[in-house]
Amino acid sequence: MTDSPFEYAPAPESRDIANLKPHYRPFIGGQFVEGAGEPLKTINPATEEVLAEVETASASDVDKAVQAARKAYDKVWGRMPGSERAKYLFRIARLIQERSRELAVLETLDNGKPIKESRDSDVPTAAAHFFYHAGWADKLDYAGLGPDPRPLGVAGQIIPWNFPLLMLAWKIAPALATGNTVVLKPAETTPLTALVFAEICQQAELPPGVVNIVPGAGDIGAELVNHHGIDKIAFTGSTDVGKLIQRSVAGTPKRLTLELGGKAANVVFDDAPLDQAVEGIVNGIFFNQGHVCCAGSRLLVQESIADELLEKLRYRVSTLRLGDPLDKNTDVGAINSAKQLAKIHELVDSGDNEGAQRWTSSCPLPERGFFFAPTVFSDVQQSMRIAREEIFGPVLSVLTFRTPDEAVAKANNTPYGLSAGIWTEKGSRILWMANQLRAGVVWANTFNRFDPAAPFGGYQESGFGREGGRAGLEAYLNA
Ligand code: NAP
Ligand code: MG
Repeated sequence: MTDSPFEYAPAPESRDIANLKPHYRPFIGGQFVEGAGEPLKTINPATEEVLAEVETASASDVDKAVQAARKAYDKVWGRMPGSERAKYLFRIARLIQERSRELAVLETLDNGKPIKESRDSDVPTAAAHFFYHAGWADKLDYAGLGPDPRPLGVAGQIIPWNFPLLMLAWKIAPALATGNTVVLKPAETTPLTALVFAEICQQAELPPGVVNIVPGAGDIGAELVNHHGIDKIAFTGSTDVGKLIQRSVAGTPKRLTLELGGKAANVVFDDAPLDQAVEGIVNGIFFNQGHVCCAGSRLLVQESIADELLEKLRYRVSTLRLGDPLDKNTDVGAINSAKQLAKIHELVDSGDNEGAQRWTSSCPLPERGFFFAPTVFSDVQQSMRIAREEIFGPVLSVLTFRTPDEAVAKANNTPYGLSAGIWTEKGSRILWMANQLRAGVVWANTFNRFDPAAPFGGYQESGFGREGGRAGLEAYLNA
């Protein structure tokens, strides 16, 4: 790390706050039940220690969960007035706030993300999604989706490991607000906060079966996708699995939304405020160790300022603190799994072999756990794997451009289309660029900003359908 005028004393959050239990179970029909699947052990990726054993669902457990969700839909939830459903969503939101420290520490233990991110971003944004959707539940008739929009029925929801509780909130809050019931499968490496969320559903006295949580691996996700009692599948994850799911539901009446991968361009023009842009670039790619589908993983810099910007960027990245995710001073935590770490190494090696210039922060790496030092590749060509493939790690690829047209052409030269960033002082250029960029979300002079009122989703291989805002309601209604 760069010489700093002072050292930071360790400031670890206490892991006792997580109320970690040795054992967790699936949540079906309002109860924690025995799971007939192979139990899994979830680990702390920062230390590789086992945190807890989790019973997983079997195919017949998925069937029970779908039946419980159907019954709850037919008998209670699908008939309840929106104004009543809203009260449950408000209660859940308040309970997430009340248990926010516990949820933040648990998320950090299970996922490896810095506590300051789970505490200040993931958990408050999850609560905000429930508050926001509580407000919609009794106003659906006025959402511009037809005079009497109806819920779809039972939603099967599958989420990834990078924002476990937040992705759960993005899925469950709109489904419940619109009168659907859900069966959700969390990711194999991060099931714990979803099971604490199940406790919150009990605390909120949510009618049994409205929310069911079935921990398990990809095969349990596939069981859910192929179950005949499901009316809608909402999936967030990789483009490969998204394609598999699309094939599975083709020809069935199931509705589908896919939130998949990305390779966002973050475009910096020569008139941009550079120090501000550097902060945005760092936030864009090093937030959550770069495990962000909309990460600004391709930096496009106007050639005339490239050297100056890169120098500032390297200096700033060298000051990022990597280490214990529970330490409140940590900026970069652990990579979620050995598998993901291996994928990052493979792509970084390809960058070396294809001739890009690698710069890696000299921050020390802990001896145990899965860690990867922040890395910036310059002299990147569009043909290189590190410019085309999603690395999903703390690795930035830097390309240059001369004219706005070239910036647009390079930014859009990707099979994905989830997000993009623009840095310039010119308002007219922001509007022109935003119209040209093929991306679901375009940020201007900022990056990675989320709000439940703003729809999020992709173009092309980043998927289809929107989550959040009025547009997100549409995915759960028969309008
Ligand atoms: P993944 O392998 O596609 O896994 C996502 C989820 O799908 C997990 O719960 C996984 O279970 C499950 N799954 C695996 N195979 C399945 C199958 N055949 N049928 C049904 N479900 C299956 O993705 P990942 O690598 O864990 O997550 C990272 C990816 O998610 C990245 O590509 C990222 O861009 C994308 N992502 C997108 C968004 C967005 O909003 N667009 C947000 C976050 C992440 P297991 O965990 O047990 O494998
Ligand atoms: Mg884990």
